[in-house]
Amino acid sequence: MPSSADKTQWSDLYNEVVTTGLCTGCSACVVVCPFHVLGYEDDRPFQLLDEGPDHCSHGDRGCDICTRACPRFREWEPELDRMLFGRTRLPEEIIGVHRDVVLARATDAGVLAQGQDGGVVSALLIWGLQTGQIDGALTARLSEERPWDCEPTVVTDAEGVLATAGSRYTYSANPLALVRAAEMGLSKLALVGMSCQASVTGALEARRVNKWRRKIAWTFGLLCSKTFTYEGLNQVIAQERLGLELDDIVRVNVKGKLLFYTRDGEEHQYSLKAAHEFTRPGCKMCPDFAAEHADLSFGGLGQNDGWTLTVIRTERGEEIWRQALEAGVIDWRPGREDPAAVALMDRLAAKSRKRWPVGSIPSDWASSGALPATEGASEPLG
Ligand SMILES: Cc1cc2nc3c(=O)[nH]c(=O)nc-3n(C[C@H](O)[C@H](O)[C@H](O)COP(=O)(O)OP(=O)(O)OC[C@H]3O[C@@H](n4cnc5c(N)ncnc54)[C@H](O)[C@@H]3O)c2cc1C
Repeated sequence: MPSSADKTQWSDLYNEVVTTGLCTGCSACVVVCPFHVLGYEDDRPFQLLDEGPDHCSHGDRGCDICTRACPRFREWEPELDRMLFGRTRLPEEIIGVHRDVVLARATDAGVLAQGQDGGVVSALLIWGLQTGQIDGALTARLSEERPWDCEPTVVTDAEGVLATAGSRYTYSANPLALVRAAEMGLSKLALVGMSCQASVTGALEARRVNKWRRKIAWTFGLLCSKTFTYEGLNQVIAQERLGLELDDIVRVNVKGKLLFYTRDGEEHQYSLKAAHEFTRPGCKMCPDFAAEHADLSFGGLGQNDGWTLTVIRTERGEEIWRQALEAGVIDWRPGREDPAAVALMDRLAAKSRKRWPVGSIPSDWASSGALPATEGASEPLG
């Protein structure tokens, strides 16, 4: 048993992840802290104890749980690859280890209409709830306080799933809703979230944070290059530069451009390159575009609207997919029918990977302040 001296703790996480730009704000450390001494604000964890931002007396006494839950701490990627797939990825596996890439859409017209792309995530969640395979899902609902912002929530029925369908491009730390789900007594959850969040399940399993790992039955990852700051996306771009009223916007999408759809049926475009200045800080060093540690990963890269590009990754993902097809809740066609979408996914995955050579961060580099700047990391979304 490593002594408390050898064990990692909050101060390591603070110095190696939280203050170095590696922290994505996924909130896993906050959820699992057994002493509830980590707060969460502006997409970042912080120390609640009045002992200095990087100090934790529980850590001094041997508590290491926050570091074990963090999907950006030290050798996270090879560790999670080995745990999930029994091996690390091959260099040519640009989108990570996977079994198949397909295009899919919900067979239910209502679900298809509510979905961002093919409504596949929502169709699987509704089917999972109706068949009792899951008893809740951690998704993102539109904020009541701030128009077009979003926040984590727990949904337990089709109505809740449909009310939270679609994509918002500001950050919602859906793992944070695990705490609420536990209070509700739920124990078979589907975690939906962008790449940074989809790796939480693998980190909890690889480093045996079992109390919380046991609560997640399915992990659905969303392909993602980045999210935007709320102020940047809504106040500057939508309101100031495009002259839109936030209450008039009915849908936002990213298809090579930022697209805002208003009640009058109009489409308002904004250049992604120009929007780059509002990239959320926590996204700038994220190397994972294709949600590489999810059971199933979903993206909107399909060249035809209304289809979700789906990556089948784990054995569990394959089984969910096989049964959902059998149940007739999704329609599918082979990924090779849309080679442009698959090629674009590879290209965007390769671009995100350039943000940081994962697995090559010697842990003491971070604390020695030797981390090089990340210039040259700009890339288009979707
Ligand atoms: C921030 C963000 C960035 C994305 N970037 C890309 C990209 O660059 N390229 C690409 O191909 N696809 C991207 N996607 C994925 C794409 O937008 C769709 O979510 C995906 O194709 C699934 O579509 P669907 O119709 O099957 O899902 P739906 O049935 O519409 O379900 C979508 C699910 O995502 C959840 N969700 C929505 N917004 C957020 C959020 N901000 N935080 C956490 N959860 C959320 C919803 O609650 C819902 O459960 C992104 C998604 C998000 C949320």
